[in-house]
Amino acid sequence: MTAAVPDAVRPAESDAADVVYVEDLLADLQLERAGLSGRDPVPAARRARQAAGELADLGLSRFVAELLGESAPVPAPSAVLDLEADEDGRRASYEVWCAGARELTDEVWRWLTERRRAAGELPWWCGESALPLPHDSVRRLAEVTAPVRDLSEIAAAWARPAGLRGSATAEYNWRWLLLGKGVLGPSGGVSGGASSEALPPLNELITLLVGRARQCGLLPLAHKVKVLRRPNTPSMVMPVRLPGSSLLSLPTAVTPVTVQYLLHELAHLAEHALRPADAPLVERWTFDPLRSEGWALLLEQLAGSTAFLARLGIDEETATALARFYAEEERFSRGLMAADLALDTDLAGCRTSAEALEAASAVATATGLGWAPELLLLRQTRVLHWRSYLAGYAWRDTVRAELDSRFCGGDGQEEGEGGWAHRDEAWALLRSALARTGPAGSAAGFLDALRLPEPTPRVPRTHRTPPTP
Ligand SMILES: [Zn+2]
Repeated sequence: MTAAVPDAVRPAESDAADVVYVEDLLADLQLERAGLSGRDPVPAARRARQAAGELADLGLSRFVAELLGESAPVPAPSAVLDLEADEDGRRASYEVWCAGARELTDEVWRWLTERRRAAGELPWWCGESALPLPHDSVRRLAEVTAPVRDLSEIAAAWARPAGLRGSATAEYNWRWLLLGKGVLGPSGGVSGGASSEALPPLNELITLLVGRARQCGLLPLAHKVKVLRRPNTPSMVMPVRLPGSSLLSLPTAVTPVTVQYLLHELAHLAEHALRPADAPLVERWTFDPLRSEGWALLLEQLAGSTAFLARLGIDEETATALARFYAEEERFSRGLMAADLALDTDLAGCRTSAEALEAASAVATATGLGWAPELLLLRQTRVLHWRSYLAGYAWRDTVRAELDSRFCGGDGQEEGEGGWAHRDEAWALLRSALARTGPAGSAAGFLDALRLPEPTPRVPRTHRTPPTP
């Protein structure tokens, strides 16, 4: 019987079976992490132990250990910040949240110290990634800097229409402000301006934006998306099978940032959906954070165009207020991340958690927001993320300049929604750049793809082999 299958074929067949087994395992691990049941009744942890050899061969051991919660857990507060309560309720909720962060201070400091101690040649925050990061992107993330600015003026301007009492820029309001709750004012407010009820309901926004993503070929029908709605949680996407299916988790409330956040998550979904099915499994699961966040920032920037917002059925007055807010929100977010990076630098000279809190206080003062230092310190566990965003803004601007010069003769037309977004060829080019994986799938590889010469139209030649019927 053995002679029936040539020896050279058998290992490949068994490898393919291993890959499918590991794919199923990864899918179940992702579902279980999101609190959903996997498809296989055998616990994923047991299957992961059984498949240890295959996981190691595929370069996925560390990634799976992280999904199983076996790597050093990232300190995180258990309390959820309640954003829907009145101002007194919000203040109380914020106090609980701060107290949780205060209790975590020593744990956060130990976690950071351990990561810094374990770092080899690469920066310590590379340890936050379970799969290797492209060298060029690591260099860009390490080099990114931004000045710490006083953000109190923007915070005060956002607080006024919300009618926030007392110290409107105080820290307990910051997340409220960042979510744009005050931007449009309450319905029938004294200003008589645009109200938050002028925004489409969440279902409608999802239908419209997913429809547009499908039109641009960003979200093939074959990629299944399950929407989870969780109150007071950040919006996020989690891959389940690449390509194949993803989870999209959204907060239940619609705020002015919802359009922008939805576009951002659709960008991540597109990246999942466009992974080539024939690429090695580890390549399909490896994402360059600079490319991922930069691309998401490019797509979410479309929301900065009043014309784009009008097509979502948003009236002119509201669209103008939203577009202005998105520009301010970017300045504000970049300012916060500049503070995170400044603290990352300062922490290198700290020896104790008390010194770390002192450094965080100094940075908080410079932002003019009077942030609780323990909250700023807690954000250090996500420095890779903040660096990816901050470098991602610059990368996004380079990508946009490329698109403008290629598709609009160098004219960035309307602020926010460049003319390139109306060109099918631009979306085709973006799709092909997004479908790159491996070494070509880095932020630098994406730019290379955008700079490839345009394909010349095919001219029929006489010596070509006639097509087979
Ligand atoms: Zn993102």
